[in-house]
Amino acid sequence: MNEPSALAPLEALGILQQDAPTLGSERVELIDALGRVLAEDLASQCDHPGVDNSGLDGYACRVGDAADARQAAPARLRLVGEAPAGRPFDGRVGPGEAIRIFTGAAVPAGADGIVPVEASREVEGGWVELLQPARAADIRRRAQDLEQGQVYLRRGRRLDAAALGLAAGMGHGTVPAVRRPRVALLTTGDEVVDPGRPLQRGQVYDSNAASLMALGQAAGASMVRLPRVGDDAGALERALEQLGAVDLLLTSGGVSMGRYDRVRDLLFGRGAVRFWKVAMKPGGPALYGRLGELPVLGLPGNPVSSMVVFLVLARAYLDAALGRSDPPPYLDRRPARAGTPFHGAAAKESLPRARLTHGAEGIVATALTNQSSGVLRSMSEGDALVVVPAGRDIAAGETIDVIPLAGHLR
Ligand code: AMP
Ligand code: MG
Repeated sequence: MNEPSALAPLEALGILQQDAPTLGSERVELIDALGRVLAEDLASQCDHPGVDNSGLDGYACRVGDAADARQAAPARLRLVGEAPAGRPFDGRVGPGEAIRIFTGAAVPAGADGIVPVEASREVEGGWVELLQPARAADIRRRAQDLEQGQVYLRRGRRLDAAALGLAAGMGHGTVPAVRRPRVALLTTGDEVVDPGRPLQRGQVYDSNAASLMALGQAAGASMVRLPRVGDDAGALERALEQLGAVDLLLTSGGVSMGRYDRVRDLLFGRGAVRFWKVAMKPGGPALYGRLGELPVLGLPGNPVSSMVVFLVLARAYLDAALGRSDPPPYLDRRPARAGTPFHGAAAKESLPRARLTHGAEGIVATALTNQSSGVLRSMSEGDALVVVPAGRDIAAGETIDVIPLAGHLR
């Protein structure tokens, strides 16, 4: 069933990016900022290192005083002090002199080289013998890492462990972060029940609530879960009346062709539909529109479809709202080699699940055997989507685009 009216995924993604709000910003403690998106460029408030300092535990001296030092003919220098990290040696290292120095300690005036402690021995009477030449390269230069006033993190950067460390190193105790988008999740379906209790005949556990809440959190949204409703128009409307201000309502189920698909009915009846059906598999019935001011993205109920549509479409919306500078998952692809055939569909782009292995010849993608959109296991056992263009089959050995998933699932 290939609707000529179905939008290409890229067009649907473009509509969502266009429709995304611009979110304000707030100051966040750096310690709490993992996963947040920078609202402004961050410049360094200091040089790093702040001073020339030693890259080793050892002895600082003048390079010329230990130029020919070796095991058989050590350079003997007068030990005039020491510089532990954080406690600079205030004097000057003169000709024929050395100080004990420790990693990270400021290199004193006069010294221009370091000999590692392993290539030295202290001699009674206040001397040290150096068994190899002093090296200037073991001095870490002031500002070799960060220069005060320079921008090292740009707005739009999602803060990961490395960026948080860098922000801290630049002196920022708090950071300007884009406000989290508020996203409400409503799962629907007469047959859907909470996990943790016995199933009646014909029922399924609400796996979408679990996966979609997690996907939303991983995307940096502030997620609110509404109480699930059955396939009942009245219950659906009442649920939405309880809804506070959100930037996006995500629904699960009820957007397909069935007689009891109430989310579809509601959006067509009382809302403004921007698109229904996207030429992608899984995820074809995806629906997007507005109910009054409220943007609503209707995800199909099939567990794989709901996750894939979240990753392809909801993420495009949320990433745009957050002003993220990295591409949304659908556009963040890697070249790989097909390790198995991947079957396409006539007028839809297919996004089958695959497992990636990283070998000498690059990334190889192996198809999971069951590609049904109801097979939850494929999202957990696979770690990538393969992009199979409409109307094509991919043979083993062909070069393909894959969308790695790991980074987007947590
Ligand atoms: P629907 O999109 O409502 O036509 O549902 C498609 C399929 O997904 C049906 O087999 C449903 O039972 C299943 N399904 C719907 N909602 C969920 C959910 N929240 N968790 C797991 N499966 C679901
Ligand atoms: Mg249903």
